[in-house]
Amino acid sequence: MNRKRIVIAGTNFAGYTAALELKELVGENHDVVVVANTHKFLFFPSLIWYPFGLREEKDITFDVRPIYESHGIQFIEGEIDRFDPPTNQVVTREQGPVGYDYLVIGTGPKVDYDYIPGLREHAYSIVGLGPAHRTREGWQKFLADPGPVVIGAAQGAACFGAAYEFLFNTRYQLAKNDLADQAPLTYVTAEPFAAHFGIGGFGNAQKMCEWMFKHYHIHARLSAEIDSVTADGVHLKDGEFLPSKFTMIVPRFLGVDAVRNTPGLANPAGFIEVDDTYQHPVFRNVFAAGVAVHVRPPGPTAVPCGVPKTGWPTEQMAKLAVKNIVADIKGLPFKAEKFGEMASYCIMDTGNMGMMIVGDHMLSPREHEFIIPGPEAHWAKLAFEKYFLWTRRHAHV
Ligand SMILES: Cc1cc2nc3c(=O)[nH]c(=O)nc-3n(C[C@H](O)[C@H](O)[C@H](O)COP(=O)(O)OP(=O)(O)OC[C@H]3O[C@@H](n4cnc5c(N)ncnc54)[C@H](O)[C@@H]3O)c2cc1C
Repeated sequence: MNRKRIVIAGTNFAGYTAALELKELVGENHDVVVVANTHKFLFFPSLIWYPFGLREEKDITFDVRPIYESHGIQFIEGEIDRFDPPTNQVVTREQGPVGYDYLVIGTGPKVDYDYIPGLREHAYSIVGLGPAHRTREGWQKFLADPGPVVIGAAQGAACFGAAYEFLFNTRYQLAKNDLADQAPLTYVTAEPFAAHFGIGGFGNAQKMCEWMFKHYHIHARLSAEIDSVTADGVHLKDGEFLPSKFTMIVPRFLGVDAVRNTPGLANPAGFIEVDDTYQHPVFRNVFAAGVAVHVRPPGPTAVPCGVPKTGWPTEQMAKLAVKNIVADIKGLPFKAEKFGEMASYCIMDTGNMGMMIVGDHMLSPREHEFIIPGPEAHWAKLAFEKYFLWTRRHAHV
């Protein structure tokens, strides 16, 4: 059998999983190469706590290089400018072209801060360590000069869970700082109803969220479109103005520039349309996983909502993609699993409580779907964070 070179672009949930899983499957028979613009794995779920000083960078990141080295995986650190599927190359800015026989793209999202005026300048974000750090500085300023707060997920956003978690964690922090009376809290969302999450809802999460909104005096603006964000608040397209001294908005995602710079690879938003084997329909030696992949919303909404490609399905897509690469090399049949039919595991933290969200399918119809609310969900999220990071940090051979 000819020796193959399999390149993985990105080194977070999709890329890191794909690299380790693939190496496990191919051993010394083929070469596994990871190309990414960072050598740090970032555990995004903990960014809901970072702005409140509850986590530091070292708590939620780790260096992937020693782990790859111990597995015999080559790691190339560099910014990918574009892919060149006709010549089977990943074109990096600093390291030049990297050739491949097979490619797995796990480059995640580009966060679009520029489609709503003022979003970049006047709203905070938690999508990434840098933005979360700026949010931490903003929170400190806010504590010294409190007032109304707006948290939201803008039109086209997909990462609704993070917006809810940050909303409820902000509520908890306001209460801890004795600021609840001085800081009315508004949640602005593209979703048509509470806890729609971009997936058409989940079990009785809507009722529970509505109860929490009422109990914690959170004002909700549903099916809302943000017109602009200014230093003093959020302007909605229907003319309403929501004053705010601290605004955190989750924007829409696009595919990264490297994907968008590659003709024929992705749709206009930069998401890669793959089949249920995670293989590209045209470039058959290219596979994709995670946020880089296009997933069709389960139904229309008055204001556009994206589908959240969370950690669990991201890792499942990555595992399937590399299994199918191995199947292709060996001439075996591919395995397929639709995104919507993957199991759904999530924990939504609310500061000192939370909801465990478990279902047999990401998208309905589901046979089993459970929401388990209570303080144990908060502790489960903390335990999961420790478990996840410990196992990934210690994935040495
Ligand atoms: C605040 C927040 C909270 C979240 N909470 C949860 C949660 O509780 N549970 C859950 O399941 N999911 C959660 N998610 C979603 C989860 O983070 C994503 O599912 C996951 O990050 C997707 O993984 P990915 O590998 O596809 O993309 P990413 O994690 O974004 O990784 C992309 C990788 O590609 C690299 N890359 C990108 N562009 C280039 C380039 N041009 N050149 C080289 N390398 C590049 C990046 O450096 C990175 O290594 C949360 C997300 C956020 C933002």
